Amino acid sequence: MLELLASWISTRLGAVAGVCGFVGVGALALVPVWGFTWDAGYLPPLVAAPAEELRVELLTNGTTFGELLNGVRLDGNDQQNLLLAFQEHADPRRLRVGTEVTLRFFRGDGRIRGVDVAVSKDELVRLERDVAGWASIVVPTPVQVDTLAAVGSIETSLWNAVRESAGLASVPWADQAEVIGLVAQVFQSQIDFSRQIRPGDAYRLVFEREVRPDRTMRSGRILAAEVVNAGKTFSAVWFDLHDDGIGGYYDLQGESLKRAFLLAPLDFRRVSSRFSLGRLHPILNVIRAHVGVDYAAAIGTPVMATGDGMVTQRGVGSGYGNLIEIRHGSGEFVTRYGHLSRFASGLRVGDWVSQGQTIGYVGMTGLATGPHLHYEMRRNGAPTDPLSLDMPEGDPIPPSARDRWTVEFGERYAMLTNLSPTSGQRMADTGAPPGRSQAARNE
Ligand SMILES: [Zn+2]
Repeated sequence: MLELLASWISTRLGAVAGVCGFVGVGALALVPVWGFTWDAGYLPPLVAAPAEELRVELLTNGTTFGELLNGVRLDGNDQQNLLLAFQEHADPRRLRVGTEVTLRFFRGDGRIRGVDVAVSKDELVRLERDVAGWASIVVPTPVQVDTLAAVGSIETSLWNAVRESAGLASVPWADQAEVIGLVAQVFQSQIDFSRQIRPGDAYRLVFEREVRPDRTMRSGRILAAEVVNAGKTFSAVWFDLHDDGIGGYYDLQGESLKRAFLLAPLDFRRVSSRFSLGRLHPILNVIRAHVGVDYAAAIGTPVMATGDGMVTQRGVGSGYGNLIEIRHGSGEFVTRYGHLSRFASGLRVGDWVSQGQTIGYVGMTGLATGPHLHYEMRRNGAPTDPLSLDMPEGDPIPPSARDRWTVEFGERYAMLTNLSPTSGQRMADTGAPPGRSQAARNE
């Protein structure tokens, strides 16, 4: 992000400097100096051939970087120096098949001028000649920032609704899944997406992402989102209160969406279906008052602590199988997580855990006919449905940041409210620059 900002600033500065330079020449032309008037006149555009020619090669199965260089005019020493310089940043024997190697030649004479090796999705190693032989630097892969918007109604699940959105149709599937996860994360103390979504619910969201040249997403962030659930509207606008690039989500009143508890201890994308409450217990074969929520999910799915607290049990708890119990705050609230296949490594009774921390993994230990998580919340000893909990409002934006909030909130929320309620759309690129190395590549 910082990298991107720096490159954006430098591009903008470059552009400004260019304009100033031109204006400067123009002004000079009007100023008489010793009776002589400079006249730059009209300069025809200068067309120069690029200084280099590029050849892009892909590492094939069984070809090493060194072998690829054999096809280039380099004497043995030169090639050795180049490989040594490369080794400062990456292991030439551990490059993936398909790694893109860009060979840069001096135009005309075929001598090699530089080599770019895309060592990962986000970095390339650039090799260039210097007085001593070869030098190497790591250059971030160029990214562009754009903003996507999506609107839709939810008939079955947020998952399907987002997948069917026209606004995200051009987004690779894996990135769509990440957007869905981010929406759920934004509202994780407001909506349990695995058991509260109703037909007729709706969503709209505006999403900012960094996109690589191959159109995959390097990072993304929800800027503003709204979910209408059972007639109630939940809004979230991103705001970077501490200016740390992380930020958080606030509602229309400027109150943080953070609460003492997440509604669900699992990523809803991993929940397959829900057991009915108050059912006939399949093993005991009696109707047992069900005191918690059962989430069906694959064995090994991570289980999160829904709130900060201290581990008071970690072990086998009869019917619960492998059980973790956490005491929150003064002890008014206790949460339990049962049937786990295993505990998070190193977790002990007496440990402090924080909200969202992985404490164990879904299993089917104890009285369970299939893999699922039994989640239970008790308030002063009495079983409580987490959804019925009336949690206090989150922290408000402090007065010192109110002015900034008002401006940024206005911009981001307007992006949402400008969306047509029925169709998805893609918004214009925000005009972020092509990254540094893109510019350098085309030098
Ligand atoms: Zn249960």
